[in-house]
Amino acid sequence: MSSRTNRGILDRLKKGVVQGAEGYVFELERRGYIKAGPYVPEVVLDFPEAVKELHREFLRAGSEVMVALTYYAHREKLRDVGRENDLEFMNRQAVRLANEVAREGDALVAGNICNTWAYDPQNAQASSKIVRAMYEEQLGWALEEGIDFVISETNDYLGEALIALEVIKQLKLPAMVTLASVQQSQTRDGYDYVEACKILADHGADIVGLNCDRGPETMLPIIEKIRSVVSCYVAAQPVPYKTNAQFPTFESLRTGSGEQAFPLLLEPFLCNRFEMAEFARKAQAIGINYIGICCGGAPHYVRAMAEALGKTVPASKYSPVMELHPVLGTHVEEKHKGFLADWKN
Ligand SMILES: [Zn+2]
Repeated sequence: MSSRTNRGILDRLKKGVVQGAEGYVFELERRGYIKAGPYVPEVVLDFPEAVKELHREFLRAGSEVMVALTYYAHREKLRDVGRENDLEFMNRQAVRLANEVAREGDALVAGNICNTWAYDPQNAQASSKIVRAMYEEQLGWALEEGIDFVISETNDYLGEALIALEVIKQLKLPAMVTLASVQQSQTRDGYDYVEACKILADHGADIVGLNCDRGPETMLPIIEKIRSVVSCYVAAQPVPYKTNAQFPTFESLRTGSGEQAFPLLLEPFLCNRFEMAEFARKAQAIGINYIGICCGGAPHYVRAMAEALGKTVPASKYSPVMELHPVLGTHVEEKHKGFLADWKN
């Protein structure tokens, strides 16, 4: 494995909060490089520069982890878009791109596996075999290209998450395993999210927690409970959307006319950068170790979160200085005062 950095994920976590950033698929879809629906990261092969650019933007904004864009880059999903033959190249290329940008800073590279849609708790034995083979194949390539640890994420089933954990541990890599939380309180195979994280921790996961689905308001209470029952590191990567008690996940959000907002009508529900910064502060205060963002994430959030965590990052050079604004600033010239009056009306 090529050496990128001599500070591994576990060393960094021991010293303090590690910041991550995800949401590559959503952001690259918004930029016109990924097709909504299948959400397969074809961009890795078709527009590698676009992937590198987003890695770089997250790096400049404070992410310490470049997550290889292999989300849904597995056999089942690639078959859907007729690119099964590109599977190996897509996976290898995604890890290479993450490595290239990680070396521009002092970032780690995470291999990435996710829910496969192949796991079936009713047919656990046979489907586990398929899932295991998919993970072994993906992570085998990733390891050859060079990764520091693995993020297994958006796990709907504890059963599937445990397979991921086993495969990661076989490869002797640190394992971060996080759950999806689409349902009220339980995984799809019936484990309370808190209990499921405890089981993952007991099975040797280095980092457990939640990613995706929930915004800050509805993720924090669960993550706080997880923190109180495990002694390993805890990760929280919410979506930057205003979920609430009535609509706890971004899948459940409805527009004014009652339409499902997920995944293409979500803009009216976006959090602002200050709300995400507040999330980072609160997560740190309750002892969360890995703080990031998921679908909907973008560099301005990541920078605001980094600064809330007390960091100055490369993109901080261009952080807002509203005092210098000609109308909103502290020294408004006489001729601009009319603007201010109009803006306030
Ligand atoms: Zn997500």
